[in-house]
Amino acid sequence: MERKSDISGFHELSPKRRREIVKAFAGLTNEEAKALEKTGVLDEKTADMMIENVVGTTELPLGIATNFLINGKDYLIPMVIEEPSVVAAASYAAKLARASGGFTATSTDPIMIGQVQLVNVKNPEKAARDILAKKEDIIAYANTVDPCVLVKFGGGLRDIETRVLATPAGKMVIVHMLVDCRDAMGANAINTLGEVLAPMFEDISGGKARLRIISNLADRRTAKAKAVWKKEVLEQSFSGKGDFKGEDIVNWIIEAWAFAFSDPYRAATHNKGIMNGVDAVVMATGNDWRAVEAGAHAYASMRGRYGPLTRYSKDKDGNLVGEIEIPTAIGLVGGATKTHPVAKVAVRILGVKNANELSEVIASVGLAQNFAALRALATEGIQRGHMRLHARNIAVMAGAQGKDIDVVAAKMVEEKKIRVDRAKEILEKLKDQ
Ligand code: NAD
Repeated sequence: MERKSDISGFHELSPKRRREIVKAFAGLTNEEAKALEKTGVLDEKTADMMIENVVGTTELPLGIATNFLINGKDYLIPMVIEEPSVVAAASYAAKLARASGGFTATSTDPIMIGQVQLVNVKNPEKAARDILAKKEDIIAYANTVDPCVLVKFGGGLRDIETRVLATPAGKMVIVHMLVDCRDAMGANAINTLGEVLAPMFEDISGGKARLRIISNLADRRTAKAKAVWKKEVLEQSFSGKGDFKGEDIVNWIIEAWAFAFSDPYRAATHNKGIMNGVDAVVMATGNDWRAVEAGAHAYASMRGRYGPLTRYSKDKDGNLVGEIEIPTAIGLVGGATKTHPVAKVAVRILGVKNANELSEVIASVGLAQNFAALRALATEGIQRGHMRLHARNIAVMAGAQGKDIDVVAAKMVEEKKIRVDRAKEILEKLKDQ
């Protein structure tokens, strides 16, 4: 099957039919496809090895966002999330972006920062300079010993930086180890390296090494994505539903972004929308979403005040240009990515070759999600879309089954009466017909 992600009517299919399409798209084996189908696929033995004191497992829905075209390649995007509308919104934003070639994305080398805190240093400024003066030796030593086996995969310690911090507990020297983690997220690898190098830093500085730990502010490991949404496409997207001009929609989305740029109260929600997409892919692939969340919000504060992780502008033709830049502390080799059976299949569905490619996909999904939210918020509001899904849930609660669910839901939305009692009345009438 051709790897095309713009599969029309995907949302109308049964989960079984969707699985068949995903299986063909990604070339999954029968066993891999089964891992998607079965519940309780994370067996007790595996779960018991993953964390402590295991008593069971829990499950969340895994959805597939369609339409993503990133750097000319089609992707189906696995998303693990409990919130309705997110997968639909990402798919829709990607569909509208396809008209102008989809997303273009880039990423930096996968450099994570490890920190070693040195206290009781007599002359912190001199110690910081002395460590820098010996950095070539330190790097050579680290990459020869290679305690976390990164050099073998093309990574390793790349650079050393030092900072002197004036803290409430006095001055301290902070050493930053800049480590190329290749396809690893790198936390375990870097924490190990910190412990190996700490005695060297103690020797040079005459101080005492305390914390030796990765920084989740992964500002050297970032991914960027960009997309253009044509004003005509934006206008068409509302045809029949609203009387908005393409030009106006572009302006309103830029105003919505400007609001977030100038107000942390709005920026927090703006970024939450981005993380709806980012976290869903991070979770689907078994990555550490707390690490990615912490990094994203710290990065959002880098200009001295908390702000949005995206920006919007107009190109010379008046089309909307959306851009995102986020830190991406994610990997393909460690953590649950290689142990969780569904995470392994999610990586296969994505068809990413390395952690950099995964980070570019994640940035594109974050941008798509943010665009979808702003498009709705700046025009008709998000409740309309939410209400449709909510109405379906209410219809099911009232006992509707099969095709009746959509009929009952549509009627309630039309009447703007989304209540179980009304759903039951509509259902009764349907049965009488
Ligand atoms: P890991 O230690 O499980 O795996 C990394 C190792 O995989 C490398 O050291 C390397 O030897 C090997 N490897 C194989 N192929 C590789 C390749 N192509 N590129 C790079 N390395 C390759 O995982 P990790 O990434 O070091 O740590 C990630 C885990 O650490 C996450 O599960 C996270 O939850 C956890 N963690 C996070 C934090 C934090 O974010 N602050 C702190 C502690 C632990």
